[in-house]
Amino acid sequence: MAALDLSSAGLQALSTRASEPFIARLREHLDDASPAREQEVLLVRRPTESLPPGFRGYLLWDEDLVSNPVPGDTYVLPPNLRYLAEGDVVRLHPERGALATLYRRASPSNTFLVTERCDNNCLMCSQPPRKQDDSWLVDELMQALPLISPETRELGITGGEPSLLKGRLVALLARMKHHLPRTAVHVLTNGRGFANAELARAVADVQHPDLMLGIPLYSDLPEEHDYVVQALGAFDETVRGILHLKRARVRVELRCVVHAQTYARLPQLAEFIARNLAFVDHVALMGLELMGFAKTNLGLLWMDPLDYQPQLSAAVRTLSRAGLETSLYNHPLCTLPAELHPFARKSISDWKNLYAEDCERCTRREDCGGFFASGLAKRSRGIQPFVD
Ligand code: SF4
Repeated sequence: MAALDLSSAGLQALSTRASEPFIARLREHLDDASPAREQEVLLVRRPTESLPPGFRGYLLWDEDLVSNPVPGDTYVLPPNLRYLAEGDVVRLHPERGALATLYRRASPSNTFLVTERCDNNCLMCSQPPRKQDDSWLVDELMQALPLISPETRELGITGGEPSLLKGRLVALLARMKHHLPRTAVHVLTNGRGFANAELARAVADVQHPDLMLGIPLYSDLPEEHDYVVQALGAFDETVRGILHLKRARVRVELRCVVHAQTYARLPQLAEFIARNLAFVDHVALMGLELMGFAKTNLGLLWMDPLDYQPQLSAAVRTLSRAGLETSLYNHPLCTLPAELHPFARKSISDWKNLYAEDCERCTRREDCGGFFASGLAKRSRGIQPFVD
């Protein structure tokens, strides 16, 4: 998963006052007096004589909407940014005339990238690591949190590797708990940082009411896991991290992306989890997203899900027999045998989820998670509409 950062350019400035980038929440309705106009940008869709004062900025659907002179920091939204709505949080860069969407209130899948640094280098990484100081990403998220709707059901934290932030990750989780106490938080991490038991305990001490750490495990064999993540010793650290987190009572989800380098030992991986890690809270077996390194390494990784059905079925049977909550992510229903349909979830974020043309006449479309937008190029030969 990548951070929501859907657009970053294209504003036409009618008037500019600020030069530094700033973060603001969008406001559309003026039915009450907002105490936070200085942190808000007003969205204007209809003609008006003049703009109400006090807002940090103004975004107009059309440059002719306002008859009187406009105040500072007023921009015209290009058509590709007209999805923006009340409650969304954006970063505006006045000098560049750029806007980036950080959070969309109507989306069920808002995820924040907190660093691009990583100590793994996975063969199928969708967000290839970069070595640079990007601590501004956390600074920005810290600023954005108070502007996010407290009704948000879930937020994701991803990287890079979030545990490299150490104490700053702990501070971030504490701030999320403070500003958004009813919002579930899901952190995607390779788990290696929690081989340090102190960090695992510090995360537990935040006592976040609804926190889950998603940690990938690709094989029961250390050398195979290390190969997939391209880091010697990673398996040992990841497993130690999982043990430390569970000992500190942090909820953990294990994740395995299924592809040509991981499918063969899925049944053994399931046995390993059932025997040694049966206390984890969830196991997700996931289809491949064709982004980043997965595209570069397509020849090494791509496998039609039809061809790993036997291994996937055996793994799911073992996990569910052991009482582990098990889900299949990113697998269109028609590529799975019927016995696995109850485990399939609609898991692809709304902004990168598509269906094929054939899907229009499929009677199971409502239950099916469809494809990654990036995945239509490499389709399973099993894609076939249900007609029952
Ligand atoms: S045809 Fe499309 S909607 Fe139907 S199960 Fe396959 S992928 Fe899903």
